Order: sequence, then C-alpha cells, then structure tokens
Amino acid sequence: MQVYGLIGNPVEHSLSPPLHEAGYEALGIDARYVTFEPGIDDAAAAVRGATTLGVAGLNVTVPFKRDVLDAVDPDPLAERIGAVNTVDFGPVRAGDADQPRGYNTDAAGVRRAFEHHDVALDGTDAVVVGAGGAGRAAAFALADAGASVHVANRTTGRAVDLAGDVPNATGGGLDDLATRVADANALVNATTVGMEEDATPVPAEALHADLAVLDAVYTPIETRLLADAAAAGATTVDGAWMLLFQGVEAFERWTGRDAPVEAMNRALRDHL
Ligand code: NAP
Repeated sequence: MQVYGLIGNPVEHSLSPPLHEAGYEALGIDARYVTFEPGIDDAAAAVRGATTLGVAGLNVTVPFKRDVLDAVDPDPLAERIGAVNTVDFGPVRAGDADQPRGYNTDAAGVRRAFEHHDVALDGTDAVVVGAGGAGRAAAFALADAGASVHVANRTTGRAVDLAGDVPNATGGGLDDLATRVADANALVNATTVGMEEDATPVPAEALHADLAVLDAVYTPIETRLLADAAAAGATTVDGAWMLLFQGVEAFERWTGRDAPVEAMNRALRDHL
C-alpha cells in the first residue's frame, strides 16, 4: 500500500483526503491519503522524515509552501513561483535524485480550471487580484498560457514585485482595478476577500459578458464575485475547480496515470 498525504498547519478541514482517495478507489490503486500537522518550523524536517518512512507523495499547504523548497529539488516552474505544493518521492526511492522532486500544481490548477470551461487564455488580457501564494501561481499560469497579466493588490509593492518576476506582466494597486477588469477577458480573485463573507474585491459594474472569472475562494462555493459575474453574463469558474485540478495534477505526477477527474470532482463537491 502506498501512503500519500498533506502537510500543513492547520490541516483538519482539508478536502484533499476525499479528493485523492476517490481517485485511488476509481482506479483500483492500493493507497491511502493522510494529513500531517508538523510544528510551524518543521516543514523541511517533515519532508526528510517522509523520505525515510517511504511516503510516496506529499502535498504541502499553508504555511509551508516556501519552507519546503530547501528540502526538495524544485522543478523550474516551482522555482520561478518560489513555492512547492507537491512533493514526489519516487525519484529518491529509485535512486535517480538526491532529494524528492518539488512541483507547484496550483498553477496547473488555474490553467486546467480555465481549460475545462473552454476559456482560451493565449493572447488575452488577464487580471489577477492578489499577490500572495495563490496570486503568484495564477500570474505565472496565465502568463505561461500566453496572457498579458496585470496583478492588482492591496499592498501595491507586492504586486509590482510579483509582476517583475512574471513575463509580460504589470503590477499596481486596487485604484484602477475596475478599468483593468473592464478591458480584460480573464480575471482571477486570489485574495481572501469573499471567504466566509458576502464581500467582493472587484466592483460589480466592472464585470462583463466577455470575461471569464475564476475565484480561488471556495468557501462559499458561489462567492459574491461569482454571483455578480454570472449576473453580468461572464463565464464563471468556482474555486473548487482550481482545487480539483491542483489535486488532479499531483495525482497524475505521483501515479503516472490519467486521473479520474469526474470521480474526484464528485467526491470534492460532496465534501464542500
Ligand atoms: P495569502 O498568501 O495570505 O494572500 C492573501 C491575499 O489577499 C494578499 O494579496 C492580500 O493582500 C489579499 N487580501 C487580504 N485581505 C484583503 C482585503 N481586505 N482587501 C484586499 N485584499 C486583501 O493567501 P493565499 O494562500 O494566496 O490564498 C488566497 C485565497 O486563495 C484564499 O482564499 C485561499 O483559500 C485561496 N486558495 C485557493 C486555492 C484553490 O485551489 N482553490 C489554492 C490556494 C489558495 P495584501 O498583500 O495587501 O495583504
């Protein structure tokens, strides 16, 4: 039996166990997915311990996505983003690497969530609101898919710094967000605004029918932003799609098989 898991602090409300275990069940893979909550300074030690114990793969969540960089061999995308959310111990076990490989599948989560809704990104103007972990992953995902990205953030300096790392990107504050969104075809909310609250980071009047909106927030599943976007005729992509596809991408890297997306999506939404 293979053991996969998640390190984070806290992890008790994670949806990853049912998501991944639905995948193992659908494909008949003998595996379990468990959660671990190391101390706040112990992420790298946890990765080394998992290597020793023969864990097959780990997801990594808040607050450890940067901390584990030192304990893994990050792939180029994870290195550019500066954060790892998926560790694959296979190469170490096979003697092909000194450290487990580290990936960032949040970026694939954004790209595949849009793809799943038939949203073309190449050549479009995209806006990312937020410059934290999700914002970084979204900005790289959109730029790598061929979009021109504008990052807007409450703390302007963080947006400018992020834009400096991302090809073909600009950064700024929230002052001109409405104008930026009015001119864009894709929008990602990567702030915490709207989480467990009836609030939105984007003025409703800026939303329009030529826009596709992905809200990284998935509690609630229909945020104020997505409700406003639907009312404006925009394409809406809820945060569970991003969560699903970051998990699907990790599953596929670990198992080398196409993930049973429908079964994993059902399990995720059953637990939301
Ligand atoms: P984070 O690193 O803490 O970043 C938080 C971001 O929200 C920052 O840009 C922050 O701006 C902004 N923000 C917070 N309060 C704000 C306010 N009142 N007004 C305007 N901006 C505000 O968090 P994260 O890890 O990127 O997560 C962001 C959201 O994405 C969370 O809701 C998280 O659950 C979600 N997420 C979803 C997925 C998924 O798979 N669906 C994956 C990752 C994250 P400042 O820089 O100015 O503080």
